[in-house]
Amino acid sequence: MREAVRKDNVMIMEAPTLAGRQRQDVQIKVEGVHKRFGTAEDAVTALKDINLEISDGEFVCLLGPSGCGKSTLLNAVAGFSPPTEGRITVEGKDVVAPGPDRGMVFQEYALFPWMTVRQNIAFGLELQKRPLAEIDERTEALMHKLKLQDFRDRFPKDLSGGMRQRVAIARVLALNSPIMLMDEPFGALDALTRRSLQDELLRIWAELKKTIIFVTHSIDESIYLADRIIVMTYRPGTVKADVRVEIERPRDSTRAEFNDLKKYLTSLVMKEQERFAEDEGKLAGLRG
Ligand code: ADP
Ligand code: MG
Repeated sequence: MREAVRKDNVMIMEAPTLAGRQRQDVQIKVEGVHKRFGTAEDAVTALKDINLEISDGEFVCLLGPSGCGKSTLLNAVAGFSPPTEGRITVEGKDVVAPGPDRGMVFQEYALFPWMTVRQNIAFGLELQKRPLAEIDERTEALMHKLKLQDFRDRFPKDLSGGMRQRVAIARVLALNSPIMLMDEPFGALDALTRRSLQDELLRIWAELKKTIIFVTHSIDESIYLADRIIVMTYRPGTVKADVRVEIERPRDSTRAEFNDLKKYLTSLVMKEQERFAEDEGKLAGLRG
């Protein structure tokens, strides 16, 4: 059984295991993953003994301050950068390279600047040599879904940050990947745009039943979005807590249950933030 802690109205479950869940529900499995950068004295252990099981359709946030290995873990799941030790599987198959089952959305807008909105969205489908009619239909539908139809012929440089991220999301959705990996995708947006894109993402997630791993260092964002929040420690990155969020959506950040969870997560993250700041201080000392 999982250990459940009842904190006022918030049900917090630590370290969920497979108990009570069917094995085939597990879609992404991270087993004994270590990641080291560099060799010998200057080696950095970015990830240490990460074990995670993520179910089909789960919305998981990786939360932690800068430098705790969130991007490293996401890139390992994406197949961009393999772990030094351990194993990652998706649907039982080893991850050895990027694949069409995993779409990635980055913080910086990874759009082609010389392509219009429409061309950017259609690009992956064209690469897959899909029939033209299908490309047209899918691209049109996605532009509607993400409210981009009036911007179809614009170039990325003429779009706001929020619009560009809509295009980046549409581009990943075009490929129909069951898994979306998102690395601080809304980190550079202003608060209102960010909230509207969070709502958009939740709508898409619910409608298309995607599995989402979403990296953020914002506690609020993680509570607003996730079914489950994985709190990571700062260097080496380990799983500090695995917290299930049982608050009904849409979530209201002014409510007590939201704030209780926020307090709890803040206490966990603060300790890691302090360790990060200490390291920064040491580095500044070395430089100075
Ligand atoms: P986060 O995304 O949580 O901010 P990262 O995954 O980017 O953290 O980095 C985790 C740690 O690994 C950091 O200490 C970082 O300096 C180090 N690191 C990340 N990528 C590399 C790399 N390519 N080479 C060397 N060190 C790296
Ligand atoms: Mg990062």
